[in-house]
Amino acid sequence: MRRAVITAPRTVHVETVPVPEPGPGAALVRVGYCAICTYEQRLYTGYIAQYPIVGGHEVGGIVEAVGPGVYNVKPGEKVVVAGLYRCGQCDACRRGVSNLCEYRWSRRQPGQVGGPGGFGEYLLRGADDLFPVPQETPLHHAALGEPIACVVRSVKKAATKPHDRVVIAGAGIMGLLHLQILRGRVSRILVSEPDPERAARALEMGADGIVNPVEGSYADQVKEQFGGLKATCTFVAVSVAKAVEDAVSATADGGRVMCYAAIPKGSTVTLDPNVFHHHEIAVTGTVSQTPEDFHDAAALIASGRLNLDPLMTDYYPLGRIQEALEAAVNRKAAYRVVMEPGK
Ligand SMILES: [Zn+2]
Ligand SMILES: [Zn+2]
Repeated sequence: MRRAVITAPRTVHVETVPVPEPGPGAALVRVGYCAICTYEQRLYTGYIAQYPIVGGHEVGGIVEAVGPGVYNVKPGEKVVVAGLYRCGQCDACRRGVSNLCEYRWSRRQPGQVGGPGGFGEYLLRGADDLFPVPQETPLHHAALGEPIACVVRSVKKAATKPHDRVVIAGAGIMGLLHLQILRGRVSRILVSEPDPERAARALEMGADGIVNPVEGSYADQVKEQFGGLKATCTFVAVSVAKAVEDAVSATADGGRVMCYAAIPKGSTVTLDPNVFHHHEIAVTGTVSQTPEDFHDAAALIASGRLNLDPLMTDYYPLGRIQEALEAAVNRKAAYRVVMEPGK
């Protein structure tokens, strides 16, 4: 089998290794599609320098073979593949927040190369990392299982209610997934997005209005569109520290701000601590997902009611992975760049 190994910043080699055999409780998955996320971009640019590594944690594939003691999947089935390792032993795992497992990025591939392994034709996983979807589900949709699971966690943690007036900051793929999952569950949803094409896409996908965060007062625009009221819940799905300050400035008393996106290291925000006491505004965040969130994501994908095709815009075969990573890093693609390791 071929797999792409990142060995140094901006250096990727495609190598050939034996196809691994699934042992007890494990399955061999043929990777159909693997979407490129921020983690892979950071490995590629050297922002996270852990080499050698086989990236690729957003995987949709087909079960090729199973080892003894596998009950949930069988050969030929389409699956969403979870990428994080969860040790089951650390304090976070024992507290039921395995998304925060101390060892979550320490998964090893055969031959002891690190990484989640989606940039290869096959990968081995414990059966508990596999979430089946129906045969009629397009296989590329399964590759968005991981980001959808992250959004599921974000929405669950925000505990939105039907009365919520929601703002989603950012109409990138994560903002648009929030929009699709929240639509119909809350009273109104605004999207904050300066790029006119992205804003138009958010309106097509059901946003009730757009706020331009770089023009005029953000809080005034939010209030104007919510009939004079502030937002009760904002999801910050853009890697900009100011978006967190903007969100707090436009949050109603008792409301909350969910920091979904990672923001560059060393960023700071300035908040008057009285927003917590006098106004009971909660500022919190979310990262990754638990197996339960993956289970929910697979169910959402299987339902067919998410509009995922517009979010997967650029496809590359394994031999062109360097181009694919460059396209993702340089934001040449409109939304997700997707690898097809079998091609
Ligand atoms: Zn991801
Ligand atoms: Zn753990």
